[in-house]
Amino acid sequence: MQELTDGLRRFRREAFPPRAALFADLAARHRPGTLFIGCSDSRVVPELITQSEPGELFVVRTAGNLVPPHPAGADAVAASIEYAVGVLGVSDVVVCGHSGCGAMTALVTGDGLDRLPSVAAWLRHGAGVADEPDPGVADAPVEHRVAALVRANVATQLARLRTHPAVAEALDRQALTLHGWVYDIASGTVETYDRDADRFAALPC
Ligand SMILES: [Zn+2]
Repeated sequence: MQELTDGLRRFRREAFPPRAALFADLAARHRPGTLFIGCSDSRVVPELITQSEPGELFVVRTAGNLVPPHPAGADAVAASIEYAVGVLGVSDVVVCGHSGCGAMTALVTGDGLDRLPSVAAWLRHGAGVADEPDPGVADAPVEHRVAALVRANVATQLARLRTHPAVAEALDRQALTLHGWVYDIASGTVETYDRDADRFAALPC
């Protein structure tokens, strides 16, 4: 905790002053352009990897960057999607998966889930192993299967996103664009999803 309180002081002393005008403006205005749905994984930091300033991203982070389908009941993810799209009027939604995702690894291996009932229940919203693009990968090394499932899962969550009424309505008005990304922790690179081709390709540097 000492690191965090030291960080708070350093932020106030060093990072805040150069952005004082921005924060003064943001105190009265909240118009983010993008809803970013990422994994809770501490290594994937939306503002850092997109080099975004405060006020630019409306962020939802869940284990495995999962989006439960609508209707989901009293659901924090559904509420955040509804608010970001329906009220804030974001123009873009990003669903971002990442390399070495613990949630996707758990889906592939099933290891430890019997002791984690809440995790197991949540992961039912993930892409199924049956969604892996190539059924032949069943015998592949776990890392390869996880990498394939990370990608299949992003595509699945984009489809789930479309079941939310605020998203469907904004898509109908052509006021919203959906994006699927996979971030690689080791290299800092991102692959983007091409829905028409149903494939991921590296974002050119
Ligand atoms: Zn993850």
